[in-house]
Amino acid sequence: MKIFIETYGCQMNVSDSGKIVQLFADLNYQLTTESRAADLIIINTCSVREKPELKLFSALGRYIPLKRKRPELVIAVGGCVAQQWGEQLLERCPGLDIVFGTHQLDTLPELVSSVRDSRKAVSSTAFRMAPGGLEVMARPQPQAVSAMVTIMQGCDNFCSYCIVPHVRGREYSRPSPAIIEEVSRLADAGIKEVMLLGQNVNSYGLKEPGEISFAQLLGRVNEIEGIERIRFTTSHPKDMSDELIAAFASLSKLCPSLHLPLQAGSDTVLKRMGRRYTAASYLEKVAKLREIVPDVALTTDIIVGFPGESEDDFQQTLKMLEKVGYDQIYSFKYSSRPGTKAADYEDMISDDEKRERLARCQALQDSISQRLLKAQVGKVSEVLVTGPSKRGAGEWSGRTRESRIVNFSKPSSPEVEIVVGGLYKVSIIKALKHSLKGEVVADGNP
Ligand code: SF4
Repeated sequence: MKIFIETYGCQMNVSDSGKIVQLFADLNYQLTTESRAADLIIINTCSVREKPELKLFSALGRYIPLKRKRPELVIAVGGCVAQQWGEQLLERCPGLDIVFGTHQLDTLPELVSSVRDSRKAVSSTAFRMAPGGLEVMARPQPQAVSAMVTIMQGCDNFCSYCIVPHVRGREYSRPSPAIIEEVSRLADAGIKEVMLLGQNVNSYGLKEPGEISFAQLLGRVNEIEGIERIRFTTSHPKDMSDELIAAFASLSKLCPSLHLPLQAGSDTVLKRMGRRYTAASYLEKVAKLREIVPDVALTTDIIVGFPGESEDDFQQTLKMLEKVGYDQIYSFKYSSRPGTKAADYEDMISDDEKRERLARCQALQDSISQRLLKAQVGKVSEVLVTGPSKRGAGEWSGRTRESRIVNFSKPSSPEVEIVVGGLYKVSIIKALKHSLKGEVVADGNP
């Protein structure tokens, strides 16, 4: 049997898709990249961005007709759009067999088997105390250097624009022993770098009586032999504790890179977004972090054109980009998500205005990113090799501890052999648009 899976959206969805593939690999399904060859097609959806349903309907428009030639084909839709639409999706899309919610990932094999037996479409989107599937451990891809480990799911913050609490449910933290076991297994399988994932990792453990804090969890992961680098995402600035900031100084494997979503620079807008921090308190946390890790690389999310955002508010966002100096930003036009508080705000910004602000925001960021990349030239960085460079030409590719991409050629010295998963000292010789170019220094060892 063959399974084909299409994944939209965030890293959490990519991780969930890996778990689904694992569940079916245990039932002797093989992954295929050819939808026409599949016995089971799964679309793992995301509803954070604009018009997510259109993307899904267009995919179903491609896959449902495959059933004419292969009536035994089973098609399932999961993820956030499935959670939101539930059974209505089956009514809207004849030929779709399964709708499974964000807490029902582990029940998918049963749902597939029930559809195969009865040929009746089924929807399963109930929330559970602990989301199903969190304890499924995906095997790393052959040659993989990094792996994602989900440590918590859901969110209790209810930012006014965000659909996540509605589609992922309340915050739930996985028990720390299960997380440590998963990371240890990954280390045994050769993984060097782990990315700890959750919608709001900083509040890990706070709601589970007796559980350790997120900073303590990082400390435990830091002790696992074989793991060289630890990263995490996503953080909420209001929950960025002093204990967590101090962990950047004390934990040798915790990389000096942090994704800290700002969303907007104006306090008025932040308040209407329900973010519960101000631009000043955000800057204070950044200053504290930079005091102990001066070279920390920061990235962020920005929403432009939130309802009621004035030109002056928008200017505050631009000022924050300058003040913080992000390596990279993920910026988007505000788009209304039905069911969220902001969807009922009346002072929407026109699409032209949003597009124009987004262009200005991205142009400013491009210049900041370029300035920061150029500042790396002449430095020597530790690079974890992820594989041959996409640019070809015998080059290798990897990431610095700050998560900057570096491409470098194999050194002429025969003593230095480049291996995937190896750490090398690389001298940065050039800044490109989104990456760096370097060469391995004499002995190559960090
Ligand atoms: S903290 Fe993040 S995931 Fe939670 S509601 Fe706010 S934006 Fe959404």
